[in-house]
Amino acid sequence: MNRRIFLQNLGLTAGAMLTHRFSFAAAETTDVIVIGAGMAGMYAAYQLQQKGLSVRVLEASQRVGGRMYTLDELPWKPNTGGTEVGDGYQRLIGMAQQVGVPIVEPPAGEGRGAPTLYVIGNEKVMDKDWATSPFNKLADAEKKIVPPLLESMLMNGKNTFQTLDDWYNPKFAEFDVPLSNFLKKNGASGEAIRLINANANTNDIASTSTLNVFKSMTFRTKGGSKKTLRIEGGSQRLPETMAKQLRRPVELDKKVTEINDRGGRVTVQCTDGSTYTASQVVVTVPFAVLKNVKFTKGLTKLHYEAIRKLPYTKITQLHVAAKEPFWETDGLPMNMWTDGAFGRVFLNKGHNGQQGLLSWVNGLEAIELDKMTEKQAAAAFLQTMKTLRPASEGKLEVLKINSWGNNPLAGGAYYHLASGQAAQFYPALLEPVGRVHFAGEHLGLQNNGMEGACESAEYVVGKLMAKG
Ligand SMILES: Cc1cc2nc3c(=O)[nH]c(=O)nc-3n(C[C@H](O)[C@H](O)[C@H](O)COP(=O)(O)OP(=O)(O)OC[C@H]3O[C@@H](n4cnc5c(N)ncnc54)[C@H](O)[C@@H]3O)c2cc1C
Repeated sequence: MNRRIFLQNLGLTAGAMLTHRFSFAAAETTDVIVIGAGMAGMYAAYQLQQKGLSVRVLEASQRVGGRMYTLDELPWKPNTGGTEVGDGYQRLIGMAQQVGVPIVEPPAGEGRGAPTLYVIGNEKVMDKDWATSPFNKLADAEKKIVPPLLESMLMNGKNTFQTLDDWYNPKFAEFDVPLSNFLKKNGASGEAIRLINANANTNDIASTSTLNVFKSMTFRTKGGSKKTLRIEGGSQRLPETMAKQLRRPVELDKKVTEINDRGGRVTVQCTDGSTYTASQVVVTVPFAVLKNVKFTKGLTKLHYEAIRKLPYTKITQLHVAAKEPFWETDGLPMNMWTDGAFGRVFLNKGHNGQQGLLSWVNGLEAIELDKMTEKQAAAAFLQTMKTLRPASEGKLEVLKINSWGNNPLAGGAYYHLASGQAAQFYPALLEPVGRVHFAGEHLGLQNNGMEGACESAEYVVGKLMAKG
């Protein structure tokens, strides 16, 4: 659909539009309004512009990128959101090439496979001692598996998905049970289940569907990533660069509170009192916080239920400067996997050669941490480190704490599936309601994360263009 057809849809010619604008000066009109300047919003806006439509992007925060967030103020410039780009991320990589943002190999020495110290309670166990350690309470058959590999090893061979879409196919309903139950039924010990839950990529495996795990496993093996890459200079560079290539700059500080689909056009209202109209609207706000937006004409029951119930994984990260490499003093590996309040603590290398530490806390521990003030959380972290690694005393400084759960524009790091939700919500949630369309990582059918955000945006663009 081109601009002329869009105007016809509005019942306006270009000439009439001028008059129209004149008489409704407060409500400026574009073909499409995109709400949210994360990856989904920027992908949709960029593609719609390429197809000749006028697009306005409204972003509530003061930054483009959403959950692609690079902490440029820290010396090693870490990402605190989406980081790993799978070599199968065709849309994201294609877009990066188009706008001129390099996709590169991770910094040397980063990643899995580095020596790790396991901390069970307050007891420290080296990799090589794990299988025989008295603090390893796993069942005999599990004892050789180190904690971070327990989930993948115990789930190995159980995933029968053939395609990337199988996760929402009712044919696989037998797997739509809590992961903890599935593990137990398949012989996992109570200790294995406890350790898996300590750093699982969800809130609580007792309430997360096994389908969620199979979805990620299938995505890794058949779709997203056999090898992971990075966006040069930090993930945020990609949506930022896309924004710079939009004809109309992204409007920041525009928190949308109300969307009114009036039939011929849609009016969008922001907290600052500004109002905009368009023929169509693309909403990329995460469902975890979409309850803060009023849909005057209403949505479907299913959309409301998903907005209320779709769970989002809570992740809180502490970015920490090490004034001296205390791990060279105590001789233990810097990277730690713990079953405690601060999850995993590891070296985080920047492309500029500098490095910091990252404490990455998931799920139930993140929820607890999020109840503290930043000062309390930083003090608790330093105290924990002092207990576990006395050599770290006085050598660490917490520079930044980022809680995705407490972020009122995110509500968590990414969605996951509780039992009963896959076939109930998908693919139905992808359908527009009148002139209101939805995109975002939670609406990627075949892909997760950043590529899922692109996939959902591509779907919406296809729908919008087909309307013409
Ligand atoms: C810690 C962490 C690690 C991750 N790791 C990876 C990874 O390694 N690989 C991967 O592929 N993915 C990863 N992800 C996921 C990936 O970052 C996200 O899936 C993706 O960036 C989401 O893009 P989006 O456009 O759907 O949502 P968002 O980026 O959240 O964009 C939505 C935008 O809407 C704005 N907004 C919210 N409410 C309003 C409102 N009322 N009015 C106007 N604007 C509003 C928000 O400010 C935001 O900018 C990670 C995420 C996190 C948090």
